[in-house]
Amino acid sequence: MATRRASNDMRQWLETMVAIESPSGDAEGIGQVMDVVAEVLGDKGAVSRTPTSAGPMLEVSRGQGGALILAHADTVWSRGTLAEMPWREQGDWVYGPGCLDMKGGIAIAMAAIRNLPDNVPYTLLITPDEEVGSDASREAIEEAARRSRLVLVLESGMPGGAVKVGRAGVGDYTLHIRGVESHAGLEPEKGASAIKELAHHIQWIEGLENKVLGTTLNMGVVQGGTRSNVVAGKAWAHIDIRVTTRSEMERIEAILSAPPRFDARCEVVYEGGFNRPPMEPNAQSQTWFREASDIWRQVTGEDLAGVRVGGASDGNFTAPLAPTLDGLGPVGQGAHARNEGVDWRYMEPRRQLVQELLVRAGRS
Ligand SMILES: [Zn+2]
Repeated sequence: MATRRASNDMRQWLETMVAIESPSGDAEGIGQVMDVVAEVLGDKGAVSRTPTSAGPMLEVSRGQGGALILAHADTVWSRGTLAEMPWREQGDWVYGPGCLDMKGGIAIAMAAIRNLPDNVPYTLLITPDEEVGSDASREAIEEAARRSRLVLVLESGMPGGAVKVGRAGVGDYTLHIRGVESHAGLEPEKGASAIKELAHHIQWIEGLENKVLGTTLNMGVVQGGTRSNVVAGKAWAHIDIRVTTRSEMERIEAILSAPPRFDARCEVVYEGGFNRPPMEPNAQSQTWFREASDIWRQVTGEDLAGVRVGGASDGNFTAPLAPTLDGLGPVGQGAHARNEGVDWRYMEPRRQLVQELLVRAGRS
């Protein structure tokens, strides 16, 4: 049966791709993953490869409009990981570096496209640098989203198969404080401690949080000073910020661009910004979510949940440009962790879900 063959192929393709180590920045490994995709889909669309500073980017497409499938070939696993964490199959599960995030998603896309009727238009874009912020591929992602009716992001799904309908925007800031050094024993009054100023900012920044709206700020790293008998001349901190709405992003950006100084002799600068804006559900994306739920119920007999998550993906870039559904990829455990695994029972239902969404987005 066709479906049976498709799922066996997915297993074969995934094993082949996991056996290729492709950490972000490794153009060779990333290119080899793309070779696998290009070979399998070569007769299903026009294949083009664009070099970027982060490695090659692969596009396979057919016709105009339709849906865009977004995937990335890079992983968080350095070369050599495979020796300690080899491909392994156990019961309903398969394990190995990048199998969930997101080579399993690529395998689902490959099977969906191979089984797609010939008249359905689509674009598959595989990027090399999602795990490091997508600087080199962002423009191409946005350009492809603009000419698509729907964007399907094949990042992993949530437990039970839930998809991601909202994602936090992620801000990455460094706080630089310059104070005035002086001898801590002889003339402490002449000094302005950068560390003391930093301590004020640790308290102050917490006040910018809005738990109800999902805005969080985490000062995760602090450093400052040179010696215990010197009033500290320098201090800095590294801050992770999550927001779920664009207006919260803009609020935080505005406040951090003009921060307070608790000691006027200190210089205070918050440097950085939001790498990815929040992905917010809208009327269009909700309509497509209902279509997806419909299909999922037909395929599995179960309801599809749509959840908002704190992590960002390339779906954050496409959501303002085209209705975006994310987390349509494999279901499993341990993304970026040693126990990374895929629950194979979801692979075939996911293939059918993605394939049917491609068909529906290709109509009219
Ligand atoms: Zn990913």
